[in-house]
Amino acid sequence: MPLQSRQNYDTLIVGGGLVGAAVACGIAATGAGVAVLDGGDRDFRASRGNFGLVWVQGKGADFPAYARLSGVAARQWADFSAELEDATGIDVGLQQTGGYDFCLTGDEWQQREWEMRQVALHTGGEFEYQMLDAAELRQRIPEVSGEVLGASYSAADGHVNPLYLLRALHQRMHDLGVNYAPGQVVQASRRHNDEYVVSTLQQDYRAAKLVFCAGLSNQRLCRDLDMHIPVQPLRGQLLITDRVPVFLPAATLQVRQTREGTLQIGDSHEDVGLDESTTLDVITRLAQRAVRIFPHLAAVRVNRAWGALRVMTPDGVPIYHQSAEHPGAYAISCHSGVTLAALHAREIANWICSGAQDSLIAPFSAERFNV
Ligand SMILES: Cc1cc2nc3c(=O)[nH]c(=O)nc-3n(C[C@H](O)[C@H](O)[C@H](O)COP(=O)(O)OP(=O)(O)OC[C@H]3O[C@@H](n4cnc5c(N)ncnc54)[C@H](O)[C@@H]3O)c2cc1C
Repeated sequence: MPLQSRQNYDTLIVGGGLVGAAVACGIAATGAGVAVLDGGDRDFRASRGNFGLVWVQGKGADFPAYARLSGVAARQWADFSAELEDATGIDVGLQQTGGYDFCLTGDEWQQREWEMRQVALHTGGEFEYQMLDAAELRQRIPEVSGEVLGASYSAADGHVNPLYLLRALHQRMHDLGVNYAPGQVVQASRRHNDEYVVSTLQQDYRAAKLVFCAGLSNQRLCRDLDMHIPVQPLRGQLLITDRVPVFLPAATLQVRQTREGTLQIGDSHEDVGLDESTTLDVITRLAQRAVRIFPHLAAVRVNRAWGALRVMTPDGVPIYHQSAEHPGAYAISCHSGVTLAALHAREIANWICSGAQDSLIAPFSAERFNV
C-alpha cells in the first residue's frame, strides 16, 4: 500500500537506523502494521559509521544486567544472521571466531582482568574468557609486537559488516510489509485518546503504539511524551586501509580485518558535541597505536577515515523505556546497536508487542536516572 494513502498503523517507529529497523522487523513479523518514519541523509547516523563488532568483553562490568543482556544478544547472532540471509539473500559477513583486546600497559592489564572477572561473575560463569600473556598471544597471532603485554580473549565476540546488516534489515522490513518512509522528519508527537499522533512536515500519522529509535534525537523527541532520555554524542574516528593478506584470526577491539581484506582501525572516544569531523591528531594516534601492536602495518596505506557520533547514555548502558504516563510509548537508545541487533528484533520487539515487562529488559528503564 503506498504510504500516502495510509496514516493509521498498529505501531509507528521513529528512526530507521540499526535499532529502529531491527525492532520494526521483529514487530512486523507478528503481522502487525508497522511504519518507520526516518529522517534525512544529513542526520547523525551512528548505524552508518560504526566499527561492526559483536562484543561482549567488559560489557556490564559494573551493571550486572547489561553483562547478561550482552551475552544473550551475542549468543543469538549466528542464528540471527542465518535467518536474515535465508530471508533476504544478504550475507552480513558474521565472523564470530572470538575477540582480543590488547594490553599495552600494566594498568590496562589490571583493569581488563577486573572487568573480565566481573562479567564472568555477573553471568554465573556463562561468560568465559582468558587473559593471555605475551607468549600465549604471539602463539595465536605471531604478528603482535613485543611491546604488547598480553590480551584478554573471549570466544563470544565477533564482527560483521555493519552496512550489510543495515541493508539486510531494510530488505527484511520491505519484505514484511513495513512502510518505510524516508525524509519524514518528525516534528512533534502527542497522545489523543487511545492513539498517538506523530506530525512530520508533510503529514500526521496515527498508531496505537509509538517507538522512538531516533538515535541522538531521542532526547528531544521523547520529551513530548514526558520521557526523559538523556543521550549525548560521543565521537569515534575510524580508519580503513588498503587490502592486506589475512593475518587476524579474530576481531580485536583495536583493529579488525574485513572479509574483503581491508583493515578497519578504531576508534576514539571524544566528547566534542555534535561534530562528526575527522582530525589529524586522532587519525595519527589511531594509526600509531595500530603499528605499535602490529609493526608490519607501518607500510600499509590508510585510504579513508571518518568520524561518527555514538548515542551514549550517562552510564553507557542501553535504555529500554516505556512511558509511565503514556503506556504504549517507548524509547530505545543504545551504543551497541550491532551487538544487540538480534535482541532488538526478538526480545525487544516481543516486549513492545505484548506490553509485558520482561525481567531481562526491566533493569534498563530510564527511571534509573531519576533516583
Ligand atoms: C564510531 C562508532 C563505533 C561503533 N562501534 C560499534 C561496534 O563495534 N559495535 C556495536 O554494537 N555498536 C557500535 N557502535 C554503536 C552503533 O553504531 C549504534 O548503537 C547504533 O548505530 C545506533 O543505532 P540507532 O538506530 O539508535 O541510531 P542512528 O543510526 O543514529 O539512527 C537514528 C535514525 O533516526 C533518524 N532520525 C533522527 N531524528 C529524526 C526525526 N526527527 N524524525 C525521523 N527520523 C529521525 C535518523 O535519520 C536515523 O536514521 C558504534 C558507533 C560509533 C559512532
